Amino acid sequence: MTRQPLVTSLDQYEVWFVTGSQNLYGEETLRQVAEQSQAVAEGLAGLPVTVVWKPVLKDSDAIRRLALEVNARDDVIGVIAWMHTFSPAKMWISGLDALRKPLLHLHTQANVELPWADIDFDFMNLNQAAHGDREFGYIQTRLGVARKTVVGHVSNPTVLQQVEDWERAAAGWAAARTLKLARFGDNMRFVAVTEGDKTEAELRFGVQVNTWGVNDLVAAVEAATDADIDALVDVYLDSYDVADELLPGAERHQSLRDGAAIELGLRSFLEEGGFGAFTTSFEDLGALKQLPGLAVQRLMAEGYGFGAEGDWKTAILVRVANVMGAGLPGGASLMEDYTYDLVPGAERILGAHMLEVSPSLTTAKPRLEVHALGIGGKDDPVRLVFTADPGPALVVAMSDMRDRFRLVANVVTNVEAPDLPNLPVGRAVWEPAPDFATSAACWLAAGAAHHTVMTTAVGIEVFRDFAEIAGTELVVIDEDTTVRSFQRELRWNQAYYRLAQGL
Ligand code: MN
Repeated sequence: MTRQPLVTSLDQYEVWFVTGSQNLYGEETLRQVAEQSQAVAEGLAGLPVTVVWKPVLKDSDAIRRLALEVNARDDVIGVIAWMHTFSPAKMWISGLDALRKPLLHLHTQANVELPWADIDFDFMNLNQAAHGDREFGYIQTRLGVARKTVVGHVSNPTVLQQVEDWERAAAGWAAARTLKLARFGDNMRFVAVTEGDKTEAELRFGVQVNTWGVNDLVAAVEAATDADIDALVDVYLDSYDVADELLPGAERHQSLRDGAAIELGLRSFLEEGGFGAFTTSFEDLGALKQLPGLAVQRLMAEGYGFGAEGDWKTAILVRVANVMGAGLPGGASLMEDYTYDLVPGAERILGAHMLEVSPSLTTAKPRLEVHALGIGGKDDPVRLVFTADPGPALVVAMSDMRDRFRLVANVVTNVEAPDLPNLPVGRAVWEPAPDFATSAACWLAAGAAHHTVMTTAVGIEVFRDFAEIAGTELVVIDEDTTVRSFQRELRWNQAYYRLAQGL
């Protein structure tokens, strides 16, 4: 079978830059529109996704054909639109109605300063975005087109950041639309929040979620050769601070080799199936010797999505966050709010999981250790032990609310952890915004899950853009949140999202 290594990069994507106008202006003005819109597009050239300038659109047919072309191309993940001149917006109705890709309305202008002393009516005739874009805004709103609106000149770093955030969200969306997710075993028995409507998830996010018997994975693990295991053990020895008892020749080296075989088997299964995300379940390990720990940690750090206990919804978020953060410092991981330090005024959350936290959250060299796991009844699993770097972070959870999915995000700060000499797992210690009590009360009110993706690579704006593109509810707990306003937002959303999805 052909193996498809996972791609986690923005390099293969394009966004198309389109400029609206009309034939009324005559050749000379349209030539200037073309020239100046190319300069605006070039102003976006430093962003992570390639921006491709397209010839100026002047009539309905051209606009509709462009939308259909964008829809048909997997590598074109969105459209940036600007009305340099006045482009009567009824020309945009069929095109916007057909467009199935993310849209960014860039409300900009060719020049920064007005040449006050020289302005004549030719200048006014050419530089009309101030009202041309308002006509475009009207038709987008009239049609109910989801989009991001960015205002300002492309020489402004804030404008560039906003466009980059949207590009990253569009890339996350493109990755979700083509994501295949393999579940090994079912959800942890009796757990509610990890359940959900997999058919609806495929419609809403494009993700194919399907289950394989864990013994299919066991077969792939057993196919790992000694030579491949030797080579992977060498990688471990180079990459990590390996505990003495796991070293070649030491008493527990076999545990490391078993862990390497699990990684080799998982990787071959995922690559042969073209999967970008997966789940495991400690209650359903079949003939696997250990609960996959080290393997899962390393695959997440490479860009795979992962959820424990069959949690496919969080696995989607980890994959999407990995793509959205491609090329940035930091990473994305499954995380679980585990236990609290409740010292008044200095409350902190200690997050971890049984094993499966991605080492992309640290720049330090993780320690590779083996310890007993009091759950699952298997051999002691090998795992990477580290603490997430201090700095800004975000946790995001997805809940199935029966008639829709709800995303809940909390802006948090990872802080220095005290020494944790007896805690043999990857972990993060954070302070949530706006404060611990508000954060936790809002989280509970929203019915948000105990599993999250933690990302240290992208901020809340990228997730806001992603939710807008996905047409999915997102409620955010940040420095401006109060419990009362948050509860009101939940109540309004309850009505809004039911109305917005129609009958
Ligand atoms: Mn869990």
